[in-house]
Amino acid sequence: METDVIIIGGGATGTGIARDLSLRGVRSILVEKDDIASGTTGRNHGLLHSGARYAVKDIDSAVECARENRILKKIARHCIEETGGLFVTLPEDDPSYQDRLMDGCSNAGIKAVEISCKDALAIEPRLNSSILSAIKVPDGTIDPFRLSSANMLSAMENGGKFITHAAVGSIIMKGGAVSGIECVSAKEGRFSIHANIIINAAGIWSQEICSLAGIKLKMLPSKGSMLIVDYRINRTVVNRCRVPSDGDIVVPGDTVSLIGTTSRSIEYNGIDDLRVDDDEIDILIRNGEKLIPDITRSRALRAYAGVRPLLAVPGNTAGRDISRGIVLIDHEERDGLKGLVTIVGGKLMTYRLMAEMASDLVTGKIGVSKKCLTARIPLPGSERLESLKKNLKLFPGISKSVIGSAMYRHGYRASKILKNDKKNYRQICECEMVTEGEIGYAMKSLNTGNITDLRRRTRIGMGPCQGALCTYRCAGLLNEMGHTTPGESLRMMEEFLEERWKGVRPVLWGDGLRESEFTYWIYQGLFGLGNIKNDNDGSSDEI
Ligand SMILES: Cc1cc2nc3c(=O)[nH]c(=O)nc-3n(C[C@H](O)[C@H](O)[C@H](O)COP(=O)(O)OP(=O)(O)OC[C@H]3O[C@@H](n4cnc5c(N)ncnc54)[C@H](O)[C@@H]3O)c2cc1C
Repeated sequence: METDVIIIGGGATGTGIARDLSLRGVRSILVEKDDIASGTTGRNHGLLHSGARYAVKDIDSAVECARENRILKKIARHCIEETGGLFVTLPEDDPSYQDRLMDGCSNAGIKAVEISCKDALAIEPRLNSSILSAIKVPDGTIDPFRLSSANMLSAMENGGKFITHAAVGSIIMKGGAVSGIECVSAKEGRFSIHANIIINAAGIWSQEICSLAGIKLKMLPSKGSMLIVDYRINRTVVNRCRVPSDGDIVVPGDTVSLIGTTSRSIEYNGIDDLRVDDDEIDILIRNGEKLIPDITRSRALRAYAGVRPLLAVPGNTAGRDISRGIVLIDHEERDGLKGLVTIVGGKLMTYRLMAEMASDLVTGKIGVSKKCLTARIPLPGSERLESLKKNLKLFPGISKSVIGSAMYRHGYRASKILKNDKKNYRQICECEMVTEGEIGYAMKSLNTGNITDLRRRTRIGMGPCQGALCTYRCAGLLNEMGHTTPGESLRMMEEFLEERWKGVRPVLWGDGLRESEFTYWIYQGLFGLGNIKNDNDGSSDEI
């Protein structure tokens, strides 16, 4: 294979670059070792920062967030919920922080308004009623899976190519310049792709990619753990009004709420083996219930962790003090290696800006003068959203909740799912209202290969039952649709449950434990999943 630009990494940054380049008419191939949004992009709060969280300590990041917040609300409407946010002061917090936050927001151009505690409690009735003050900010939430998927779709519709489940194993060099990559995938074996430009958008793994090119780049891995509860207990993003610390934010998202986050430095060789520690769960629950006391009355659904992709540069220390700034490196300038560019740091919500910066650099190198269009053109799904909302009568006989869920996840593109065909509406996942039609659409149009990928495109298995009732239906459906053999469906089912188990395991008590026992009964008791022989060549069809 041959192309103009190779992009390594299918997180928000990589998929954003693929979109940016394709809209400028530049050919690219993105290679991702797992699925899109399977790295840090799929392991964060999904907070659409207003910038207020950084306004006191990191004014540059605050300004960046405020600007991108406004852009994303226009171009990524179906990925965003404009929930608004509150910063509340508890009796034990330093009351002077509130003034510093107001000053910081004013310096960064963030619209922050002090409101009475009574008004704050009217907005967020489950809030701790002993709060001393409240500030309202334009925080929101952003779904990282939807965002990456929409960027990928846009890139593919404009000629970009994506190869997922293939890891870059080496970088091909020719006379002091990069000239391609060698990849390995379970399905395709080894293959190479040739291009004169490679963009390293591998997040925390950027250090590894640079070392493949013989270049030194030191990342400072900082792990953050988060806990999800099974209801959406708050309407707005609730932040604690103090210097950012553990367990000081509760973010609503889709059908759930999450408490975030801890911050711990870890060894670089631990980035692929993340575990949520018991004491982190305790800290999150203890601090989360100070903000919203009811939080402990809902069921803990799962816990997960991500690693912030932050670069070690002079002045960057550790933990929360590391700068969240964007770093763009032209390795020709820094290391004398022509054709390699690295983009790291930043945040999920600055992905578009990061993509613009990296794309500006490489288009300059290959002589393409077309400017960035991503701040203006809506992502697929966010276009014509209002017209679809006004024309719901086009889908007679379909329940409002099915239409609502499909539109919520796919925006305008839901019109491709909502067909006049009853079979299309068979429920596969009732926690998240995922239908057969939505699975069919994701398999056909969203570069999806297995049930775990489908989870990222549709939220299948992400609700309260964590896959207990939808995994076998989905596995059966994929076989019925002709995507898998029975043996492949079974293996996918097993892989999916193993993946879900990682997040369920740290929170096994009470109802969660009972639910897991129920899941075990279904999959071991009825399907005998643990007894199925795993045939490594993938060809076996035995059940
Ligand atoms: C705990 C926590 C909370 C956060 N909360 C927020 C938040 O609320 N809001 C916000 O805006 N930001 C937040 N962030 C930051 C945000 O998640 C990241 O900055 C962003 O997701 C990084 O995206 P990325 O595409 O650069 O990296 P990634 O998403 O990590 O993408 C890199 C990709 O490269 C792939 N890759 C690696 N090696 C190879 C290889 N050899 N071959 C092929 N592919 C490879 C990986 O599989 C991965 O998918 C948070 C981060 C953490 C850790």
